[in-house]
Amino acid sequence: MAEDFNCPNCGGSLSRKMRHSKMVACPYCESTVLLEDDVVKLAGKGGVMSEEPSLFELGRAVEYQGNSFMPIGQARFSYANGWWDEFWALDGKGDGVWISVDEGDIAIQRRDPDAEMINEANLKLGARVSFDGELFRVTEVDSATCEALRGEFPEELSLGDTYRYYNLSGPRGRVVSLEYDEDGMSASEGEWIDPYEVRQQAIEAGS
Ligand SMILES: [Zn+2]
Repeated sequence: MAEDFNCPNCGGSLSRKMRHSKMVACPYCESTVLLEDDVVKLAGKGGVMSEEPSLFELGRAVEYQGNSFMPIGQARFSYANGWWDEFWALDGKGDGVWISVDEGDIAIQRRDPDAEMINEANLKLGARVSFDGELFRVTEVDSATCEALRGEFPEELSLGDTYRYYNLSGPRGRVVSLEYDEDGMSASEGEWIDPYEVRQQAIEAGS
C-alpha cells in the first residue's frame, strides 16, 4: 500500500510502502523525512551509501526457507571491524523484520518491545545471560555509528548516532541483539540464517 507525499526540502515525490514507516530518506536531496500523524517534517540527512555487492538490495525480494522478504530500507552502521547493513524488510504477512548483513553473517530479527530490561553491566563478552527463558552467551560487544540511510524505516534514525550493542547467541541459532543509548534498551530477537539458502527473486516490473 503505497502512500505518496512530497519531500519538504526539495519537493520531490516520495512514497512509503508500509503504513507504519515513520521515516523516509529522500533519494533526490538526501534528506530524511519524518512522518507522524500525517505531519511531514524534515529530520536530517541520509548520507551517501556506497554500492557494495550484497545478497540483499532495496526493492528486490529474497526467499528464505519458503518465506519471502522485501527490503524497503537500508541503514549502514560502522563498528570496530568495518561496517554492516541493516535492512528493514516486509515479510509475506506485511510485518516488518530487520535483516542484518555483515558479509556472510546474516540474521533475521524482530523487535521485542516487551523484553525485560537487562543490566548492561552483566553483558561481558562470554557471559551467560538468561533471555526469554533460555540461556544465551554474549558473543559480541561493540558500539555502532549510523553512516548512511536510504529507503524507509519504522523508527527515526540519524546519521552519526552511536549506540552500544551486544549480540547474544542461544540454542538453535537464536540471536538476541540488545542496543543501549540515552533512551534505554531495545531488544531484537531472531536467528542466524544460512546465506546459501537465501534466494534472490526476479525484480518485478515497474517497481
Ligand atoms: Zn528531497
